[in-house]
Amino acid sequence: MALLRDGRALDLAAPEYPTLEELLASNEGEAVTLAPDADLDALAPRLSGIKKIEVEFPKYADGRGFSIARQLRNTHGFKGELVAAGPLLPDQYVYLLQCGFDAVRVDPETYARQTPAEWRDAMDAFSLTYQRGYAIPMGPALSVLDARRAKRAEDLSAQYDGLSAEAALERAIRHDYAGEIVLASSMGIDSAVLLHMISEIDSGLPVLFLETGKHFKETLAYRDRLVAQFGLTNFRSIPPKPKELKSEDPDGTLNERDKDACCDLRKVRPLDREITPFKARITGRKRYQTPDRAGMPILETGGRQAKLNPLAYWTAKDVTAYMRKHDLPPHPLLALGFLSVGCEPCTTRVAEGEDPRAGRWRGANKTECGIHYIDGKWVRIEAVPGTHEVF
Ligand code: SF4
Repeated sequence: MALLRDGRALDLAAPEYPTLEELLASNEGEAVTLAPDADLDALAPRLSGIKKIEVEFPKYADGRGFSIARQLRNTHGFKGELVAAGPLLPDQYVYLLQCGFDAVRVDPETYARQTPAEWRDAMDAFSLTYQRGYAIPMGPALSVLDARRAKRAEDLSAQYDGLSAEAALERAIRHDYAGEIVLASSMGIDSAVLLHMISEIDSGLPVLFLETGKHFKETLAYRDRLVAQFGLTNFRSIPPKPKELKSEDPDGTLNERDKDACCDLRKVRPLDREITPFKARITGRKRYQTPDRAGMPILETGGRQAKLNPLAYWTAKDVTAYMRKHDLPPHPLLALGFLSVGCEPCTTRVAEGEDPRAGRWRGANKTECGIHYIDGKWVRIEAVPGTHEVF
């Protein structure tokens, strides 16, 4: 027999507890075995004296034992030890605990077909679940399979620790997210770095560019130059939907009246439509940019879409050094005093000593600098001093 509890597998003989009928017929007993159709109302008057209950599962697909556990815990307030016994499977372990069981005793025949590793994996998964239930009262529901997936994702993220930007990109593009990863580029001041790196690995990687219809002609020329120079064969300019443009910004002046609505129309929605199908996206985010990003890993997993941050540990100096080393062309507006470049109506030069992003939406009380997929939805990120990352 295997009694599995608190992560340990023990060889124990099945205990000889009385059945409910035997318990009710006697005036003593601190433990009882309940059949899946046991009458809990009959047990209720004796429950305060019971320290241990074993619930029988005749087969793993019989769900009545789960209901008994919930009723004992939630309806009758049973505080003693609750054991599930029968041909149970590791996949059921998390759910059993969430229903209120403390331990699982698997019948020998079933256990012979399982391995301790399977149960250990199930227990590991348990530490990652947030399903509402007896054992874990808070958080959104997450199935056992989701939990296992999350564990695998967490392990994968750890494997990217310490990789160089190029090595992280290569691994993600060629192996872990082959065919399922994308780069959204603003064709801004820093953009040549990642574009150059991915072109060295896979020039056919999908690269998205938000064609807002409001870019500087210099940005569009820079885009064309980089795409041609790096031989990017899967480059996609993403415009807003013509129908939405016609109804929401027919004369092209929405940015003068409502910049948030304009960004939503020309950036957020188009990007959302294009990027959502991918399992992972590459970002240019760096740890030094915000306190929130200080602990950012190279590979962020956990959400619906993984984020690969190959430049997580880079500084602005690293970017400059890489550009020089590979003789990458600078954005043409950099020499004209634009340290951060977005749409033309919303970008101005910055004066010496000003924050690089001071020229974005100047005087408009708007500081969003990026569009990122976080916890299942697209959100804009507040601008921070020294950040060049733009959309
Ligand atoms: S940056 Fe300006 S022009 Fe571009 S989408 Fe946003 S509000 Fe519109």
